[in-house]
Amino acid sequence: MNILLVGAGLSGAVIGRTLAEAGHQITIIDGRDHIGGNCHTERDADTGVMVHVYGPHIFHTDDEDVWNYVNSFTTFMPYKNRVKTTSQKQVFSLPINLHTINQYYGKTMRPDEARDFIQNDIADTTIADPQTFEEQALRFVGPDLYEAFFKGYTIKQWGVQPSELPASILKRLPVRFNYDDNYFFHRFQGMPENGYTPMIAAILDHPSITVTLNTMFDPAMADAHDHVFYSGPLDGYFDYQLGRLGYRTLDFEKFSATGDYQGCAVMNYGEVDVPYTRITEHKHFSPWEDHEGTVCYREFSRACTPDDIPYYPIRQVKEKALLGDYLKLAEDTTGVTFVGRLGTYRYLDMDVTIREAMDTADAFLAAQDAGTAMPAFVKPPL
Ligand code: UDP
Repeated sequence: MNILLVGAGLSGAVIGRTLAEAGHQITIIDGRDHIGGNCHTERDADTGVMVHVYGPHIFHTDDEDVWNYVNSFTTFMPYKNRVKTTSQKQVFSLPINLHTINQYYGKTMRPDEARDFIQNDIADTTIADPQTFEEQALRFVGPDLYEAFFKGYTIKQWGVQPSELPASILKRLPVRFNYDDNYFFHRFQGMPENGYTPMIAAILDHPSITVTLNTMFDPAMADAHDHVFYSGPLDGYFDYQLGRLGYRTLDFEKFSATGDYQGCAVMNYGEVDVPYTRITEHKHFSPWEDHEGTVCYREFSRACTPDDIPYYPIRQVKEKALLGDYLKLAEDTTGVTFVGRLGTYRYLDMDVTIREAMDTADAFLAAQDAGTAMPAFVKPPL
């Protein structure tokens, strides 16, 4: 079969590779001038530092198949994300751990003492079943740590009050009563030795895959193919006919320095009066490399306009209603399957994106064997 994949990011590459290996002819188009989507990395011409062009991407997963898959295309170097945050004129360790709690309260508590202290003296235990981001924070870390680390950051990141956001956003972050400051708790963590773009190029490197860059999707292209996998924005596929799904976009203010600018890869800024959410210093994502110069990004979040790159799906009540309407349109459309972060309007980590892409390709091959139709979504986005 002739299959068109729209988007040369992780979803397109993984689906394309699996289907190419199963004997299909794959065409992948991408509107940008590079592969890799928002995982794209490139070396800074002046300093040689590997830059995460669309912001920091750290690979972490519990899925052994996914870990083996990415390792079969590139060498992963050990990397643990250790994030700091600046707030109230001090630097603290994230995610909130025993060091953070002891430092904040000027104490020297052991794990059990800190757990009792937070649970009995600090946390708002009247909140039985937290629904919002704010309730989740007040319930588990109490008002002081919430104000210092989460409230301002979240207002900057999402542009709304934490009382209007779902608890699920904060559930991404653990609270630890020990000194483990690894941002992620997954079994497998690392960074591709030469960045993500060569890894994705290796996935795409198959004689039955053709990649064409600087090419936007045109619905007429679908007619020339037996099936389309679309990883662009779901609403964009339907020409935004019902309105636009809301996203946050990011602006990066790039600057260079010599030596070590901030001493770590990611420094968050918890307070609302610092206009950026965080500064990333890219050389620290490749600690096995040695560079004299350094490249940093100040990261600003704002509402996405039609001219911007969409990053974070907002998925509040209003957006979910519109998403429901687009899902109906999508389910009435044959010959196309929507995949990835933009195609399914969900905030997906890289490992989940790869897992879903593997499952989508397998579902397509199984549907071929069974002579059944391929659905619009392998994993329903609502
Ligand atoms: N967050 C926060 N303060 C921080 C880090 C995170 O309030 O210092 C909140 C914020 O709302 C963010 C969410 O926790 O959107 C999830 O954080 P994560 O680090 O997973 O965000 P990402 O790096 O994926 O944008």
